[in-house]
Amino acid sequence: MLAATSFLDRLFDAGILMETGVEGLYARSGAFERVVDGIDRVISRFGDADGAEVVRFPPGMNRMVFEKTGYMKNFPNLAGTVHCFCGDDSGHAEIIAALEAGDDWSRQQALSEIALTPAACYPLYPIAARRGSLPADGRLFDILSYCFRHEPSREATRQQMFRMREYVRMGTPDQVQAFRQMWIDRAGAMVGVFGLEGAVDLANDPFFGRAGRMLKNNQRQQTLKFEMLIPVESVEKPTACMSFNYHQDHFGTLWNIRTATDETAHTACVGFGMERLALAMLRHHGLEIEGWPAPVREALWGAA
Ligand code: 5GP
Ligand code: ZN
Repeated sequence: MLAATSFLDRLFDAGILMETGVEGLYARSGAFERVVDGIDRVISRFGDADGAEVVRFPPGMNRMVFEKTGYMKNFPNLAGTVHCFCGDDSGHAEIIAALEAGDDWSRQQALSEIALTPAACYPLYPIAARRGSLPADGRLFDILSYCFRHEPSREATRQQMFRMREYVRMGTPDQVQAFRQMWIDRAGAMVGVFGLEGAVDLANDPFFGRAGRMLKNNQRQQTLKFEMLIPVESVEKPTACMSFNYHQDHFGTLWNIRTATDETAHTACVGFGMERLALAMLRHHGLEIEGWPAPVREALWGAA
């Protein structure tokens, strides 16, 4: 029996994603970007009235912030750090010789001050902390970053570099929990606007190793993470396309973010996986976006 063509192969064949030779690292077509733009617009339509402050990040973050956030402790297998050459002529000669011999040329590379951002909100907390105590009604940010996670895969929905849009709330426990619940409710409506079906379920982050098992259990027991699961690769194993995270006082303590009454701030974020949402729509409505249902086109791009 012939193996069924995978979703990823169909995306390549249609020119929607383009191979780079690395699994999970793809170029995107204009059509794909139109879908991402439309999704971005729908997210804004749901969130705009809340008056969030817009912040856009480059795909790299301060390595010291990355370290302090504990990424190497919790997800060492997913991390990506930027290394650079800071040597002299003899170091340069060593690199060239190693390249020509097909040897390892990385001995001359040193850890730089930049790490690839693994989650869009990590670089935000120290920026917010520097502004001093939160106002009485807390703060709300609308952020976007390319994110990196080293998990090569042949599944279109697991990419090493992908965009994550988030809303991030900082304030009292009540304020941030109400924010998270509001977005869980909105997400159901949003999935309907996209012409998709999904379900919210309890989730955990992929904490590494044996010590990680306990962290995963704690996160679930305390219902700190929920995900919006939408069938993309399969119905049996739907894909997490949005996440709803309550960090308690984790980032507030780490960065000393204070509420107006000088308590440690609590934080929560809702994350939208832009590629995954676009892929969910392509899977469900077909690879020809001109043929998508009129209400979906209208929602994404205005006049159909
Ligand atoms: P989280 O921080 O909850 O793991 O990720 C937030 C969102 O980013 C997820 O709900 C998902 O939509 C998206 N995301 C996470 N991992 C990947 C990935 O490997 N590839 C892609 N394309 N999106 C991802
Ligand atoms: Zn976040």
